[in-house]
Amino acid sequence: MSEISGSSRVDRLAGALAGMDVDALLLDSLVNVRYLTGFTGSSAAALVFGEKLKAELGPHRFFTDFRYVTQSAAQVPDAFARETLSGDMFEGILGGLSGTSGRLGFEEASVTFKTHRRLQDLLPEGWELIPCAGAVERLRAVKDAGEVKKLAAACKLAEEALQGVLEGGLADRSELDVAVDLELRMRSLGAQAASFPSIVASGAHGALPHAEPRRETIAENVLVTIDWGAYLDGYCSDCTRTYATGEGVSEQAREVYALVLDAQLQSLAAVRAGIDGKAVDAVARDLIEAAGHGEHFGHGLGHGVGMEIHEGPRLSKLAPEDPLVDGNIVTVEPGVYLPGVLGVRIEDLAVVRQDGHEVLTSLPKELTVIS
Ligand code: ZN
Ligand code: ZN
Repeated sequence: MSEISGSSRVDRLAGALAGMDVDALLLDSLVNVRYLTGFTGSSAAALVFGEKLKAELGPHRFFTDFRYVTQSAAQVPDAFARETLSGDMFEGILGGLSGTSGRLGFEEASVTFKTHRRLQDLLPEGWELIPCAGAVERLRAVKDAGEVKKLAAACKLAEEALQGVLEGGLADRSELDVAVDLELRMRSLGAQAASFPSIVASGAHGALPHAEPRRETIAENVLVTIDWGAYLDGYCSDCTRTYATGEGVSEQAREVYALVLDAQLQSLAAVRAGIDGKAVDAVARDLIEAAGHGEHFGHGLGHGVGMEIHEGPRLSKLAPEDPLVDGNIVTVEPGVYLPGVLGVRIEDLAVVRQDGHEVLTSLPKELTVIS
């Protein structure tokens, strides 16, 4: 059974082609093909037809190679005619367009310069190549109920794994040991992978927002930032918590923690349909700036999460003014990083709703001592 409910996703995409002024859209990004067809293999492309071309050529096309004949038959819905190609996939794909004409959209973010040249060489007469940006990504930014469920399951699994790690304590273990333990537990609980390399950063190392776990031992009475996620059934989770490894953490550490927590709670409370990403970011940023730490919060407040760990929409100063809509899933993750001293980040994953939001992550956020 296909994991795609009916063919609504491809119908919506096909309906959007006219507005993009193309007659067909070539999809070569695997994650976008998976979103549209449910196909989970490692070799695939799809051609989605607008009305005119559908009348001429029939159903949309799904392409793979011989390794995936059985798997694609089980996963890809009937809205797509399946073709198995050998040799140069693009030759087969574009060959199917000969005898027709129009404007062929391609995914400008994933088609390389080399592929573009190849497409140009193979393009049948009467066809023109048109770069298209974010057609599938715009659909992916709004999650349906099935996707929310999968993201919630990934969050739950990741939290269960972290709780297991915390039972073993944090102090006197290396950051790397904690990260590996966490990733192993996520895999044992059923995750296909970590959704990104886990961050475990203690003491001054925590001042690097994307710190890599070191072999260094975690000291007592410092802060430890852990940013991790599980990749489960095609969806990523993303969460950050900062813990103390003793009651003796510095007054400064407590102050910065309290500030970040306040900024996190207030900006999270602002998340709802209708507000734009820039405005949500500003809630946290204004607070942190007012406390004199504006320059210590150098990244955006949050990002969309779904089949990929970073996707639309963004919550940042640079975010477009588009309002959030019901079904967007975003992180809310303010941080304050004092170079050479410490760092604090607290991150939740939230579903935007008409009148507010649902939070998918559930671990407590008060400063907790894990020694
Ligand atoms: Zn994160
Ligand atoms: Zn994040």
